[in-house]
Amino acid sequence: MRWEEIIGHKKEIEMLRSAVASRRLPPAYLFAGPEGVGRREVARALAKAVSCPEGNRGDFCDACSVCRRIDSGNFPEVIFYGAEEGTIKIEKIRELNKLLFYHPGEGSRRVIVIDGAEKFTPQAANSLLKILEEPPGGAIFILIAPGPEGLLPTIVSRCQRVLFSPLNGEEMAAYLEEKRGVPRVEAQAIAASAQGSLARALAITPESRQHLRELAGRVWRETDAGTGLGEEVMASDRAELLEELEFFRGLFRDLMVWKLSPGKREKGLPLINPDLEDLLEAERERDWEDIFRRLEILESTISLVRANANPRLAADQLFLGRN
Ligand SMILES: [Zn+2]
Repeated sequence: MRWEEIIGHKKEIEMLRSAVASRRLPPAYLFAGPEGVGRREVARALAKAVSCPEGNRGDFCDACSVCRRIDSGNFPEVIFYGAEEGTIKIEKIRELNKLLFYHPGEGSRRVIVIDGAEKFTPQAANSLLKILEEPPGGAIFILIAPGPEGLLPTIVSRCQRVLFSPLNGEEMAAYLEEKRGVPRVEAQAIAASAQGSLARALAITPESRQHLRELAGRVWRETDAGTGLGEEVMASDRAELLEELEFFRGLFRDLMVWKLSPGKREKGLPLINPDLEDLLEAERERDWEDIFRRLEILESTISLVRANANPRLAADQLFLGRN
C-alpha cells in the first residue's frame, strides 16, 4: 500500500515522509491510537520508505523485491514483533538484541516494528530500554500501542510520538464506495457506525447491517409485548454479541437525537445510523423514561459481557430486565 492509498493521517504521513527524505529519523517512534485506524499500515509504509532502493524523497515504489518482501515478511532488515499469549517476554528482546549485533546486509537501516508495545513484561521493557538508549547499527524502532499508558515512562520519553486519531467518517465512506463498491447511503451508515475504525467498517457487510436492522425491530416489539426474546435472537458468540450491544447503544443515542429534532426528517442530523431513519421515526413517541431505563440495562449488560460474564446470561438480563 502506497502512502497515498492510506486513509487519513495526512499530516502525520507528511511528517514521516519528510523525516525519511531528510534522513532525520529518530531512533524510536511510538505510534499511538485506537485499534483499526491504520497504525500498522503506516508502520509498514515507513519501513518501505526507509528500505526501498527505488524510492526517493521519502517515497517508495511498492513494487520492487524489497517492498514485496517487506509485505510478505521476508525482508530480513524489517522485523515485525507481536505479542504472543498476551505478553512480550524478555526472551523476545534477548533474541532481538542478538540479531541487532549483526550489521544489516541489505538496505540502509533496520526497522523493528513492535506491535502491542503495552504488553511488555517489566523485564522485557527494561531490556528494551537499554537497546533504545543506543540502538545498534542505527536501527529504527516503531512501537505500536493504544497510548503511552502501560509503557515505561522512560521508554516513552525516548520515542517520538505519532498520534493516530479515529478516522473521519467521510473518508471511510468514500473508501467503501470507491474501493469496495458499497452504495453511497449504505457506505455512510457503515462508516458512521464503525466509530472511526476502518477494520470495524470492513467487518460490517450489507448483510450484517440488514441483520442488525431486523434485530432492532424485533427487540422493540418483543420486549414491549413482554414476551422476552428467544434464545435464537442475539448472538451467542461474545464478540458478536458485543457488536450487537454496541449497535443498540448507538441506536438509543440516535433515538435521543431524533426525538430532540423538531422536524420529521431534519437534514444533517448527526446520526450513527443514518440508514435507520424509518425505525427511529417509528419510535419517536417512546417516552424518555423508557429509553433511559433500557439504556441503563444495556450499559450494565455491556460491562457484564466485557467482564467475561456468560454472554447468554448477560443477554437474558438485557431482555428480561424490563423492570
Ligand atoms: Zn520498492
